[in-house]
Amino acid sequence: MIIDLRSDTVTKPTKGMLDAMMTAKVGDDVYKEDPTVNALEARIADMFGMEKALFFPTGTMANQTALKLHTNPGDQVICDSNSHIYHYEGGGASFNCGISCKLLQGSGGMFTAKQVEEAINPPDFYHSPLTSLVEIENTANRGGGSCWDFNEIKKIRKVCDTHSLGLHLDGARLWNALIAKNESPKDYGQVFDSISVCLSKGLGCPVGSVLVGNEAVMQKAIRIRKILGGGMRQVGYLAAAGLYALDNNLERLASDHKKAKEIESVLSKLAIVKHVQTVETNIIIFELQQQAHEAQFLKALDDNNIKLIGMGNGKLRIVTHLDYTNAMHDKFLDVLSHL
Ligand SMILES: *Cc1c(COP(=O)(O)O)cnc(C)c1O
Repeated sequence: MIIDLRSDTVTKPTKGMLDAMMTAKVGDDVYKEDPTVNALEARIADMFGMEKALFFPTGTMANQTALKLHTNPGDQVICDSNSHIYHYEGGGASFNCGISCKLLQGSGGMFTAKQVEEAINPPDFYHSPLTSLVEIENTANRGGGSCWDFNEIKKIRKVCDTHSLGLHLDGARLWNALIAKNESPKDYGQVFDSISVCLSKGLGCPVGSVLVGNEAVMQKAIRIRKILGGGMRQVGYLAAAGLYALDNNLERLASDHKKAKEIESVLSKLAIVKHVQTVETNIIIFELQQQAHEAQFLKALDDNNIKLIGMGNGKLRIVTHLDYTNAMHDKFLDVLSHL
């Protein structure tokens, strides 16, 4: 039994999901003729109370498309210094969109409306890049799966309105935030211009992300997706997994969160652990007393078939997910407490 806690992307489709995939009705999605993709897009648009949704192979491509929709080359996006679009999209903001990132030093991957206000370049000061977009990540991955305060998001929306800026949400793990905080996707649909959500993280699909927004913003999304190489054909097989996941794997995220809390509690009592970031969802980020002990610590776990990941700077990450069973949880806690 291998206990893989590196990421919530390691899950494999369950029998129920595979059955849904195998029996999906499909068509050529580039002609918008795949009924299952169309159904998934309609369902997600409806969940968020927005006009249009588009299926993507990856969250990175959905985010990159959003960046492109909201900016012109030379522009600047305001985002957290820990954001996925800055750290983990291969420099796509500059490669695909020709834009730069204005990095905010937030807390737990989250920043304030005041910080946004201060980071906006005056539009008539032509020496500086033109600020055109603000990007938020919820939950914040490098922030340790932290959840935003919705009131702060509303304040940021106001700042964006005052300065005519777009507001994009990287909601790869928004599902976790919605469940953890009992929030409604429709509220998010009202404040953001575009939202990307992943099906391949906590929801347990093998592939897929969706970008959602209103017609005016999404008009060119399909063209940009095509340019990025994301126009796919009979992908109803994959969209079917998404529909299945929304029916079956959304509410259960609460159990991933509960397990993560229990891991936090055991970790924070270990002598070798210096600090555990407060756990709100399915991600646990922690530091050892001595960075030099990291390899030894990971090896001791690996000897017990337990895999986790280093994030650099002495930080380690654990992510709970659909394939992390109760039996694995019991074993992991047992191994941890005997380290
Ligand atoms: C996983 C993730 C994405 C998308 O990543 P892909 O691997 O391209 O699907 C985007 N943002 C965040 C915060 C993520 O964790």
